[in-house]
Amino acid sequence: MTHALPDRLVDPFERSIDYLRVSVTDRCDFRCTYCMSEHMTFLPKKELLTLEELDRLCSTFVRLGVRKLRVTGGEPLVRKGIMTFFDGMSRHLGDGLDELTLTTNGSQLERFAQPLWDAGVRRINVSLDTLDVDKFKAITRWGSLDKVLRGIAAAKAVGMRVKVNTVALRNFNDVELFDLLSWCAAEGLDLTFIEVMPMGDMGEVQRLDQYWPLKDLRAQLAERFTLSELSYRSGGPARYFEVGETGQRIGFITPLTHNFCESCNRVRVTCTGELYMCLGQEDMADLRAPLRGSESDAPLEDAIRRAIARKPKGHDFDYSRQEVAGQMSRHMSHTGG
Ligand code: SAM
Ligand code: SF4
Repeated sequence: MTHALPDRLVDPFERSIDYLRVSVTDRCDFRCTYCMSEHMTFLPKKELLTLEELDRLCSTFVRLGVRKLRVTGGEPLVRKGIMTFFDGMSRHLGDGLDELTLTTNGSQLERFAQPLWDAGVRRINVSLDTLDVDKFKAITRWGSLDKVLRGIAAAKAVGMRVKVNTVALRNFNDVELFDLLSWCAAEGLDLTFIEVMPMGDMGEVQRLDQYWPLKDLRAQLAERFTLSELSYRSGGPARYFEVGETGQRIGFITPLTHNFCESCNRVRVTCTGELYMCLGQEDMADLRAPLRGSESDAPLEDAIRRAIARKPKGHDFDYSRQEVAGQMSRHMSHTGG
């Protein structure tokens, strides 16, 4: 007997949804100033999806056509037992899932690089905003640069491809632009810059002070290097440029100055099972109730389909007119960056 394949997820704008980012915890061992306040209140454990529930949820998305799964948080590698989840997800690789990956602050990578590789993780994103020990401490509040660099080395040593994600911050890492670039070139790491987004209330003044538009960053790069735009797309919102002199590929994620909502193929699930159809909109669907309410996956599938049918066209982030518009009350660590 042959089983009919379930209909793939397609939103009202004909965008095929094949990329899921799942946050497995809201907790973190860092307190990056643009992401969290120093004294965060985290969710009670019972609110969080269990590892089994996360597995059932993600497996349902894979059945509905998700081909790429990115695990994020909070810091995904501080979730207790997280390798059980990765090991479980690896069964879908080559059988629905093309890629299993994660975004991490790198603090626990030294320990996890090998088990992640064994679970089929081949590419990872590591967030790193500065190579200066004191500035690293200042921006992460609790982090250690040395530990992160050891983590990156461990990931490279097992064979993973590492992409560094750097949030562009005025009066902070603008002076390090060329150092970051040449360090990544020497280490064989891809590099992507991200504009700071208005996620979580940190005070409007601070946001605007931090905001360094990537068009300015690019202009600074172009003073020394020849940049050519590449047609390469990673299936995400980044645009890529090649640095003629070093052969490096540099990504730019510009949700503020230029957005790529028209090609958005992704949705996000929080660690409590809220499905956000857009990072920059408040609308969400609760998937925890259908998960916990039935042993059958049918109500869950139904809730996912109904949510995808309302995926909005795009977000409304805007810093023009010297004010923060489209501000999201939730923190990036809640939705999963
Ligand atoms: N803890 C992991 C990490 O730092 O990579 C994963 C979660 S973190 C929320 C994911 C990404 O979101 C990081 O690259 C971080 O720099 C970025 N991020 C956090 N808050 C942001 C904000 N307000 N604007 C832009 N990027 C932000
Ligand atoms: Fe933690 Fe990542 Fe947020 Fe930094 S950006 S506080 S590492 S979740």
